[in-house]
Amino acid sequence: MKLYNSATRTRDEFVPNHPDIVKMYTCGPTVYHFAHIGNLRSYLMEDVLEKYLRYLGYNVKRVMNITDVGHLTSDADEGEDKMLKGAKREHKTVMEIAQFYTDAFFSDCKKLNIKTPDVVEPATACIDEYIKIITRLMDTGFAYFAGGNVYFDTSKLERYFVFNDFNAEDLAEGVREGVEADANKRNKNDFVLWFTKSKFEDQALKWDSPWGVGYPGWHIECSAISMKHLGEDLDIHCGGIDNAFPHHTNEIAQSEAYLGHKWCNWWMHVLHLNDKDGKMSKSRGEFLTVSLLEKKGYDPLAYRLFCLQSHYRKSLVFSWENMDNAQVAYNKLIARIAALKPGDGEVDQTAVEQLRQKFRAALDNDLNTSLAVTALYDVLKAKTNDETKLFVLADFDKVLSLSLLEKAAVEREKLKKQAVVAGEFTIISESGEEDPEVEAKIRARQDAKKAKNFAEADRIREELKASGIELIDIPHGAKWKRI
Ligand code: AMP
Ligand code: ZN
Repeated sequence: MKLYNSATRTRDEFVPNHPDIVKMYTCGPTVYHFAHIGNLRSYLMEDVLEKYLRYLGYNVKRVMNITDVGHLTSDADEGEDKMLKGAKREHKTVMEIAQFYTDAFFSDCKKLNIKTPDVVEPATACIDEYIKIITRLMDTGFAYFAGGNVYFDTSKLERYFVFNDFNAEDLAEGVREGVEADANKRNKNDFVLWFTKSKFEDQALKWDSPWGVGYPGWHIECSAISMKHLGEDLDIHCGGIDNAFPHHTNEIAQSEAYLGHKWCNWWMHVLHLNDKDGKMSKSRGEFLTVSLLEKKGYDPLAYRLFCLQSHYRKSLVFSWENMDNAQVAYNKLIARIAALKPGDGEVDQTAVEQLRQKFRAALDNDLNTSLAVTALYDVLKAKTNDETKLFVLADFDKVLSLSLLEKAAVEREKLKKQAVVAGEFTIISESGEEDPEVEAKIRARQDAKKAKNFAEADRIREELKASGIELIDIPHGAKWKRI
């Protein structure tokens, strides 16, 4: 598989460090508010990457943090603590806010068929790990104490900017909500590892440390949580593009200074979902959440399809019109799958392999989900039996996770019920088997009855009986069984 790497700025053949495992880390949500569907675009595309790696046969171990401390309103360690802001807004404690929005996040993920990572670790559970890393950084001269806080000294690095293919606008995204600069920093890009002094004396959560009672900076969380669960090296680290700078840049700085060697090989960044007025925000205009989509009558999986239809390295514009189109496309897709007949022949393995080829080629090419969706439609058009089509659709859905077969089964049931209500004639067999010849004879008997040709109707019943088929009349149809 070829995967774009923000660190090398090339599409490289993906090769994990260890043959038996892919170590994957994802920056988790800051749980001070609901996630908006922009945040969820990032998690959704990362979910596709994880599932595709598993599809290829890799054993993936995926770790995600939950930021419940240390993230200030500016990613450059300035401004107010996001968690505290959320607690004040809702007159709750920080931990109550954290629990509520962590649950809300995973509930949204579930609705979007985003798998929960193997390890989910709240930042507040790893204080000892931060202290261990910061202590070594202090001992080796990569960190300094000033004005009550511990800072990482970026001037000690040979190279600080690793993702310098971003334009000025991308770089600015992470440093939003500009506030006054911190006079204690020796260099402009130095960042806080441990706070004991902040402008906000009401900081709720504090811990003892060698540098005084305080709390960790946001960036140190991800380095420490990743090392705690995945060890000293990492195959893929993911996040939204705004995380590239300063967050991921700082993660690399402190991790490699601490370890004394390279830390992570691949950096995957998902471009933003924007609304037509620009950047999506939790504080401006209509706050786009999964619940809002549902309230407006959309299936969250139609949003998943919408995301899959574009490439993760292109920014995506959200509009209600786009969402309408995605919902129509999703409904049509499910209806077409519902029209396929399960059990219609044997699975044709040659056809399966041919159909899989295009799907794999698409995803092998830097996770081109849009072409993978095209490969999905190709299955419906393919010249093979329905059983084979259903088999391939289930196979693709291990990665795309659109609940294709489950929704189609519900749709099929619905259609059956509607047929009964509409007075249509339904034929079922007791064993569940389908036999077109038997069904044709039963329909011919029904037509004869309708035409009041009862002699012909009786003759067909006898003919069926002679061939070992017993008929039982049921409301709006007939049931048959083999005697
Ligand atoms: P946060 O909860 O703010 O830490 O963000 C959670 C994740 O969402 C991070 O990976 C961000 O980079 C990502 N993110 C933030 N805004 C957007 C957006 N508009 N579109 C896609 N991803 C986003
Ligand atoms: Zn992170």
